[in-house]
Amino acid sequence: RAKHEGRGRCCVFESSMSAELHDRRLLEHELRGAIGRGEIALAFQPQLDVASGAVIGFEALARWSHPVRGSVSPALFIPLAEESGAILDIGEWVLRHACIEAARWTNPLTIAVNVSAVQLHSTSFWEQARRALYESGLPAARLELEVTETALIRDLPRALNTLRRLKALGVRIAMDDFGTGYSSLSNLRAFPFDKIKIDASFVKSVDGNPQAAAIVRSVLGLGRGLGLPVLAEGVETEAEMTFLRAENCAGAQGYLFGRPGPIESFASITGRAGAPARGDMSAEPATA
Ligand code: C2E
Ligand code: MG
Ligand code: MG
Ligand code: MG
Repeated sequence: RAKHEGRGRCCVFESSMSAELHDRRLLEHELRGAIGRGEIALAFQPQLDVASGAVIGFEALARWSHPVRGSVSPALFIPLAEESGAILDIGEWVLRHACIEAARWTNPLTIAVNVSAVQLHSTSFWEQARRALYESGLPAARLELEVTETALIRDLPRALNTLRRLKALGVRIAMDDFGTGYSSLSNLRAFPFDKIKIDASFVKSVDGNPQAAAIVRSVLGLGRGLGLPVLAEGVETEAEMTFLRAENCAGAQGYLFGRPGPIESFASITGRAGAPARGDMSAEPATA
């Protein structure tokens, strides 16, 4: 009897899994052609210097505008792209277009670009970064690559080698989502990071939550000890910002200062002159 029940459950489970799997395969397939169809765009989110309140840079975030489903979250399509290998093309597109865009700004702000584990471990990534800088004319010091701890662990020596060669180009490296990954402390010591980004989950309600406050304070202390500036992600309230200012956090990013959006909406900050150089950059959806 138990066996029969188990089988029944198993079948329901399997059929719902296969529907989900089929949906993922379909999306994965559609994602492959997304760049060619002009469905991938960049949204930009400001990053602030906490002490002065000035915008010091932007993070470029990939957006996929699906013809039927509408906007698909990066939390869904980036992992899909990593599984299928499509992240190599998407990542290269993002890097190239982020550099082209930033090179056109009158104000020499930094541009932060996310790099996935698959990209970091591919033999062509360093060359892609070098070419994106060369072809856009963006000074290397204005490019910051955001790498997560999880991106490093697949092959530590190889990741370290790639990061060192990127640093030799003059590019800066930020550790993204700090605290959510694996073996963070040893990675911080071994890798040539220039910045720590504290994950939004620790910043949330930091003003009223003693545990979150303790974690953020200890990351700030770690940053001070290692000589690395810390940027807090996901800042949504004035109270969170007041806390960060009091604790001497260097940078902040979050909805409080601006949601990711088309770069045109930040023209007064970038000093971006003239019309878009490329038609495909203006195909960005109005993001939220
Ligand atoms: P991330 O790199 O940690 O980016 C920050 C995420 O937090 C973004 O989500 C941003 O929209 C969101 N965010 C910013 N401020 C706030 C806030 O105040 N509150 C809340 N609740 N959220 C905030 P998004 O754009 O959905 O991207 C999610 C993740 O997808 C990114 O996390 C990154 O890991 C990945 N991703 C996005 N674009 C790319 C890309 O071009 N390449 C790669 N490899 N990954 C990307
Ligand atoms: Mg990031
Ligand atoms: Mg992050
Ligand atoms: Mg993240």
